Amino acid sequence: MITLRDVEAAREEIYKVIHETPVLTSTLLNEQCGSQIYLKSEHLQKTGSFKIRGAANKVRHAVKDGATLITAASSGNHGQAVAYMARETGVRAVIAVPEDASAAKVAAIRAYGAEVEFCGLTSAERIPRARDLAETGAGIYVPPYDDPLIMAGQGTCGLELLEQVPDVEVIVVPVGGGGLISGILTAIKESNPRVKVIGVEPQLANDTYLSLQNKEITPISGTDTIADGLRTSQPGDLTFPIVQKYLDDLILVTEDEIREALQFLMERSKQLVEPSGAVSVAALLSGKLKAPYQNVAAVLSGGNLDLRSITTYLPS
Ligand SMILES: *Cc1c(COP(=O)(O)O)cnc(C)c1O
Repeated sequence: MITLRDVEAAREEIYKVIHETPVLTSTLLNEQCGSQIYLKSEHLQKTGSFKIRGAANKVRHAVKDGATLITAASSGNHGQAVAYMARETGVRAVIAVPEDASAAKVAAIRAYGAEVEFCGLTSAERIPRARDLAETGAGIYVPPYDDPLIMAGQGTCGLELLEQVPDVEVIVVPVGGGGLISGILTAIKESNPRVKVIGVEPQLANDTYLSLQNKEITPISGTDTIADGLRTSQPGDLTFPIVQKYLDDLILVTEDEIREALQFLMERSKQLVEPSGAVSVAALLSGKLKAPYQNVAAVLSGGNLDLRSITTYLPS
């Protein structure tokens, strides 16, 4: 398991590369929720999501250890973050993406200077390919969440929040594979255990919820939630024990609740947030966060979306 020390070391390693993202507030959101809400704005992070935190930690370590090639298997935020970090550290990057990846995503990865390798349609095809490419090229494969350096990097978001909102009582965090929340849990529970940490998953991608209920990792089959960053089929072998040990609660939100949150964030708060990044606010606006907290932080985890699809994400 990672510890608070690992998260602190990650912060030292990456602070020159990433933004300390702002905490935004909205009077209307406060009124609707009956609490003071702080929006930790990772959609304003470099590359448009928190994924750069873990990628920066992992890639900088790999390069120090002599790697000249970095690979990953993701057309999404993780792929972009790894591509950015390869350029930043001056090494070659190859990102394996599905054959049906959107042109916009492929262009974003190439714009950061990485090579794109089209490979199958599923992560089961992509991940071994990215691992092979790393192995044959004396490189390092960077996984999206189940890795101690990645988890520690994501946890730096929690350290920043504690400084920015010292009287925070509860932090609400989107959950996919669990890299972000396991890092934040480690940062928070090992420095200020009175602060509650609550995860949020789409009802349609409730793998961590089911795994917690069953007390063992429980995969789900494919899901088509609009929160595409949360479509992982199961929590990680390294992330899940931390979630099991420390998580206070996990809230499930519906697709309609995610749509309402997106509309609120765009129309009222003027924030361009992607569906995965809005599930934390969906948990608040839906009234599903039950206890009466005064000071609530919600992580807006990312803001990358295809502008032409925006209307398909809004309430009908
Ligand atoms: C990757 C991602 C998540 C989920 O993070 P995990 O570490 O997989 O739990 C949430 N939101 C956005 C925007 C992401 O890119």
